[in-house]
Amino acid sequence: MSSTECIVLDFDGTFTRVDDEAVPFVTGFREGLRARVGEAADLRWPALASRVEADPDRYGWEYEGTIVAPSHADPYIFTTTVAQLLLTELGLGLGARTDMLQALYRENYPKSRNVFRNDARRVVETVIATGVPVFVVTNSQTDHVAAKLRDLAPEGLDKLSVRGDARKFVIAEPSRASHTWRELWSEIPETSRIHGLARPIHLHRGHYFDALTRIWDETHTRPENTLVCGDIFELDLALPAQLGARVHLVARPQTPEHERRAARTTPGGGVSQELVGLLDRLELPG
Ligand SMILES: [Mg+2]
Repeated sequence: MSSTECIVLDFDGTFTRVDDEAVPFVTGFREGLRARVGEAADLRWPALASRVEADPDRYGWEYEGTIVAPSHADPYIFTTTVAQLLLTELGLGLGARTDMLQALYRENYPKSRNVFRNDARRVVETVIATGVPVFVVTNSQTDHVAAKLRDLAPEGLDKLSVRGDARKFVIAEPSRASHTWRELWSEIPETSRIHGLARPIHLHRGHYFDALTRIWDETHTRPENTLVCGDIFELDLALPAQLGARVHLVARPQTPEHERRAARTTPGGGVSQELVGLLDRLELPG
């Protein structure tokens, strides 16, 4: 196995107990939705939520009409998925839907609680102590995540670099243009299939690719020497795995079986229920 010279961690759901911390987010999101579209937000919610729960793989977090993460990946995505169906039913076009959902997300994310996984502090401290460069790459805003990490207060926090607004959900071309990375990008198929999921997974996440290649340039490392850890295979791990990085899925009880299987069967992949499983992957004492 190649040595690990760079570690990239997702934040929400990876460090945190997302089901607990998202409760005020969900309340605020639904209030904001009601303020915008009226009582339909409440009247239709139970039926639409049941529709998604009954067939979770058919639905998902849509970005510009393409599903980019499974509906049951976390409460943030589940709420967005149900709201998406509601806005479609109310006749909003793609652009208006996307704008409203992104505004609701931004307004309400800061309300989320700060509930870390029990092993988060210990694992982060152990990983930082290896001296390997460690990055947090997250869709959330850098300031919010940095503030949460200050609450966790792990030793060596100043060595942890947070890269927010990674937009892992955006299907787009990358904007960084070095020849090496262009060549690597050209080898990435637009989609891949994983066992147990009827729809394809989209891999052309250009903003996420830019965030990763920036880190590899800065640290003079390569995908092959990088371990990427996240709680949603499709969003956090599918692209890095295709690029040749090793990946680790930190699952939640609700993590779909197809996501666990994909992480387990990807070359260099692994799964654990707790974040401490990451230390096994790094061959560090837990
Ligand atoms: Mg996450």
